[in-house]
Amino acid sequence: MTQVTPMMKQYLEIKADYQDAFLFFRLGDFYELFHEDALKASRELEITLTGRGQGEQRIPMCGVPHHSAEQYITRLIEKGFKVAICEQVEDPEMAKGVVKREVVKLLTPGTMMSESFIEEKENNYLSTIHQNEDGTFGVAFADLSTGEGRVTLTGDEFEEAVQEVLATKSKEVIVASTIDASLLERLEKEKQLTISFEDELDNKVEYSWVYKELKQPKLETVYARLLQYLVKTQKRSLAHLQPATYYASTSYLKMDQHTKRNLELTETLREKKKQGSLLAIIDQTVTAMGGRMLRQWIERPLVSKQQIMERQEAVESFLTHYFEREELRDELKAIYDLERLAARVAYGSVTPRELVQLRKSLQRLPAIHSILGKLNISSARNWFENLDHFTRIAEVLDNSLIEEAPISLKEGGIIQTGYHEDLDRYREASTNGKQWIAELEAKEREVTGIRTLKIGYNRVFGYYLEVTRANAAAVPEGRYERKQTLTNAERYVTPELKEKEALILEANEQTEKLEYELFCEIRDQIKEYVPDLQQLANQVSELDVYTSFATVSEQRRYQKPIFSEERRIQLENNRHPVVETVIPRGEYVPNDVTMGDDRQMLLLTGPNMGGKSTYMRQLALTAVLAQIGCFVPADEAELPIFDQIFTRIGAADDLASGQSTFMVEMLETKHALTKATQDSLLLLDEIGRGTSTYDGMALAQAIMEYIHERIQAKTMFSTHYHELTQMEQTLSQLQNIHVSAVEQDGHVVFLHKVIDGAADRSYGIYVAELAGLPGSVTQRAEELLKELEGAGQQTAATVERPPQKVNEESDLQLSLFAYEDKPKAKPTASKHEKQVLEAISQADL
Ligand code: ADP
Repeated sequence: MTQVTPMMKQYLEIKADYQDAFLFFRLGDFYELFHEDALKASRELEITLTGRGQGEQRIPMCGVPHHSAEQYITRLIEKGFKVAICEQVEDPEMAKGVVKREVVKLLTPGTMMSESFIEEKENNYLSTIHQNEDGTFGVAFADLSTGEGRVTLTGDEFEEAVQEVLATKSKEVIVASTIDASLLERLEKEKQLTISFEDELDNKVEYSWVYKELKQPKLETVYARLLQYLVKTQKRSLAHLQPATYYASTSYLKMDQHTKRNLELTETLREKKKQGSLLAIIDQTVTAMGGRMLRQWIERPLVSKQQIMERQEAVESFLTHYFEREELRDELKAIYDLERLAARVAYGSVTPRELVQLRKSLQRLPAIHSILGKLNISSARNWFENLDHFTRIAEVLDNSLIEEAPISLKEGGIIQTGYHEDLDRYREASTNGKQWIAELEAKEREVTGIRTLKIGYNRVFGYYLEVTRANAAAVPEGRYERKQTLTNAERYVTPELKEKEALILEANEQTEKLEYELFCEIRDQIKEYVPDLQQLANQVSELDVYTSFATVSEQRRYQKPIFSEERRIQLENNRHPVVETVIPRGEYVPNDVTMGDDRQMLLLTGPNMGGKSTYMRQLALTAVLAQIGCFVPADEAELPIFDQIFTRIGAADDLASGQSTFMVEMLETKHALTKATQDSLLLLDEIGRGTSTYDGMALAQAIMEYIHERIQAKTMFSTHYHELTQMEQTLSQLQNIHVSAVEQDGHVVFLHKVIDGAADRSYGIYVAELAGLPGSVTQRAEELLKELEGAGQQTAATVERPPQKVNEESDLQLSLFAYEDKPKAKPTASKHEKQVLEAISQADL
């Protein structure tokens, strides 16, 4: 450090505190990055790498102009990095030696609030996982842009805590740096999560009132870590944080990440897009807040019958009151994002334009109140009643802000005339001054006889009189003082003009300053109402979601489900809410689902592409819709309230995770078997497919028996092993069902109709034909199938395709390579064939 310049010394000292962030170091009009930061940032942002200093002392450097820094910062944050903004905190002209600099904020993926970064209809959560002294874990999360915060305890399994964090779609998770290496490794697997460390747990941290209401030391400690991190990184007011609320993870329908992904609740499996998900189908919300609330509801369906029925009542009411609903939706459309506006008011970052938006939103409330009055929804009975303070805010804003108020706070044009006497006076002075100048221009033209004489203004010289060069000679000697000579013109001033100029500038400056002050005053006045605004935002969001539910239920003819005390499922003409919208209208084949009593488990067989997984998924999605309070795609629906849903449905993303598909399948099955209760719903698609026939079949049967004897959860199981359908005879609560298909003129027609009983065959070869496999392959497969089926009947009834049989007649395998024109070719493998066989046998399939 002895050889470095004083400024570099300052840089290195600051950088030492922000090792894991890019340090944006303010130098005049630029933010500069040095050393490693510079090398990395120039790569990530594709900006030019330069250097500072000479020879061996030269260090890598790159920079971005401060006025366009935001886009670069956003890009880094989107990539999961953190950025520390280091500003000059004293006037360079006053500084002795190096200008004082400080990090004024730390931007991270979980705390970013700029509009270009956060999605309107999504929350941006920041989470923490805290390990309590007794080894159990707690999870807290908060959305800085809305102020919402929640906390829960997750027991002694780290995985549960991770699932809780993933359920929030957090971009960042905070943990203690002393966290176990193996746990950290587990977290690092989640690529979208930025991991941050925070070790301090000061119970007197600023804003600790946010969690003091929890009144439980364990919960408080969990939340304290989150808050500590926010206080440290944000370095500005967090007054908008709402008191953290506790939730028990048992108060929601539990689904792990795999299940949510498999069911495509909020995004599709392959494209990871909202389009094509359940959310997209039922999202008819018209406000950003409503959109966020709906997403939260889908992520966490309810388990309390009473709460669900309260939602149903509201939906039903909006369904029957069509006109009121449409009226209400029109009002809601005019409401801006109150939740985020409230947060910006509290943060002090709200702009004049946004306060005008707030005013416009608040002015809608009386109308909403009167619409609600006609409906009598019990959960919303007292909403929008005490509108007085909102009316007051709206009035204050209405009387103070100019309708087209700007985004900028510093350039005036914010406050109406008539709001403040001094302001009016300054404005008048300015107007008068300008008037005087206009008159001066007219007068001087007359006196000098120069028609083109004009008065102009620029920032450097202020007001001046301008005469073209050709006319300069006509200016009377000594009348003006020459100020500047241009190629085509001369510019002059007079003492009087300068005097007026000073007055005008003074007045303008005063105007802008006062407008700014007045604006801050207004903003601070509204700050007191932030909690009310947040509550209001919640109510508006809820109404938005209810009307959205009513709208889809009407459009798609959903019906209100009732909840069975007898743990019975009775769905009539049930549909898959997404699939029914993507296939041509009227072509979706609705199906009944009956479970309960002696039908706790359904074993589903039938041809590939017959509609098995669609049928399984539609049951799960119907249950989710029912438990978020929406109506469901069925003519009639009776359901139990599920505590958990598990799905094991083969998914493409298994491959990406690096674990073998079969291992993932077994892990998920283990998870389901250890966690499920008799109130759970299990959907197991072709368990055991990933291993050899015997293995797979044996496993599948053992799993079924276990569920049947020990868990008794509602279970739907699809399989290719027809032998398993025999189990119906031994397992009293198991019922075979199948998706039907018929053969017509040698073609298979999928009816997509699910009926009781086992399927007689699986039509795999037919599907292969549909997929366009060479005719020689499918013909040969038909032959083999016939032989195998013949052989199967001679051997044990439970074994469909005994592998030994195939081995004995090994020619069966080889002749797969026979040519079309000689389908029965003898199994003399050519050299080429041998090579191919060898390659296949060595390939890691
Ligand atoms: P499986 O799981 O039996 O292989 P899928 O459930 O994937 O079959 O269904 C295959 C295709 O059949 C679906 O993509 C869908 O287009 C269509 N399908 C499924 N169920 C129905 C239904 N009930 N009505 C109409 N089409 C359906």
